[in-house]
Amino acid sequence: MEDLRRAVRDLCGQFDDGYWQRLDEVREYPEEFVDALTRGGYLACLIPEEYGGPGLGIHEACVILEEINRSGANSAACHAQMYTMGTILRHGSDEQKARYLPAVANGDLRLQALAVTEPDAGSDTTSIQTSAEKQGDRYVVRGQKVFISRVQHSDLMVLLARTTPRDQVAKRTDGLSVFLVDLRETGDAMRVRPTRTMINHESNEVFFDGMEIPADSLVGEEGRGFHYILSGMNAERILLASESVGDGLYFIDRAAEYAKSRRVFGRPIGQNQGVQFPIADAYMEIRAAAAVRDAAAEAFESGQTRGAEPNMAKYLASRAAWKAANVAMDTFGGWGMATEYGLERKFRESRLYLVAPVANNLVLSHVAQHVLDLPRSF
Ligand SMILES: Cc1cc2nc3c(=O)[nH]c(=O)nc-3n(C[C@H](O)[C@H](O)[C@H](O)COP(=O)(O)OP(=O)(O)OC[C@H]3O[C@@H](n4cnc5c(N)ncnc54)[C@H](O)[C@@H]3O)c2cc1C
Repeated sequence: MEDLRRAVRDLCGQFDDGYWQRLDEVREYPEEFVDALTRGGYLACLIPEEYGGPGLGIHEACVILEEINRSGANSAACHAQMYTMGTILRHGSDEQKARYLPAVANGDLRLQALAVTEPDAGSDTTSIQTSAEKQGDRYVVRGQKVFISRVQHSDLMVLLARTTPRDQVAKRTDGLSVFLVDLRETGDAMRVRPTRTMINHESNEVFFDGMEIPADSLVGEEGRGFHYILSGMNAERILLASESVGDGLYFIDRAAEYAKSRRVFGRPIGQNQGVQFPIADAYMEIRAAAAVRDAAAEAFESGQTRGAEPNMAKYLASRAAWKAANVAMDTFGGWGMATEYGLERKFRESRLYLVAPVANNLVLSHVAQHVLDLPRSF
């Protein structure tokens, strides 16, 4: 594992703060960085050997994302290339796996877009209204998605749509289906409108105006899509928790280094307990979150995981990173806000994980209901 850490660290070392800062200013995609990760095989790490990947486990994937973010880089540009394929791997047909996974593994195809969220359905996934209606050998898709990341840098997209209206299913989680959409073939029936956010994250509104896709785009069984998406979320949450752990360690590294070198009133600011204690406190919270992340990864690897562990890891890590972000900002004084220091960019980026891919309130409600057996609150 240490060799892997070192290799990722070396690769990231080729992309300094200036690289990320320049892209952040013009809101451009880190093409060279993503190419380097792809060439190194890192984004294919979870793809089994029979489909051309190295067949590594979730622990290795966690290390890769953690190190990327610890270096000051931003995994969010391409993290989904690692795990979106899991939907195909777990639920796709043999034909879909053979057709797509080797090309995703070698980087010929990018499968890093996942379209779930809608204007009126963020946390409440089963309220999505985008529909896919079977017509002969096609499905016709109508509706709108929001905040769909990396669509413009993907060849394939996993789409969740309703195939049976909500009032015709026994359970609201039924009647949703997953499709693998080939974005190279959607034509004008799919429109993409970028959403500018406070971070350099390619996010988009996507409109489906009667988009036709072949019937064999369906993944698994019709009507089971919610469960397929849910099963992919466990890996996603553990991996994104790792990015938060990496962010947190980045902030601690930077804060500790600055606190040692910055002299005020004739001594390093880090000699003051008022400066060093918050750094130590934030560091311990990151270590604690990392331990919960490791336990979640262990459970995932052994096939024992349920939603609680990945959710808790994501919650704790996102909060620990956000705390460390604020501690680092305090440590840097006014210089934390100067863009040339890189800190304010990471500060903005680390904020995302408090709300995505699941808002932390929803994690609290999951733990209250499913771990502590409290009544459902909504
Ligand atoms: C940069 C970015 C990239 C994203 N990328 C993707 C992507 O690639 N694909 C995709 O499908 N989605 C993506 N998302 C969407 C993301 O998953 C949603 O924003 C998230 O799930 C929250 O949904 P929402 O924004 O609609 O908030 P809402 O569901 O409207 O919630 C708003 C607030 O209310 C709180 N809340 C809601 N209900 C309750 C309740 N019952 N109890 C307590 N609190 C509650 C929430 O915690 C939240 O703080 C992205 C979002 C962002 C910002």
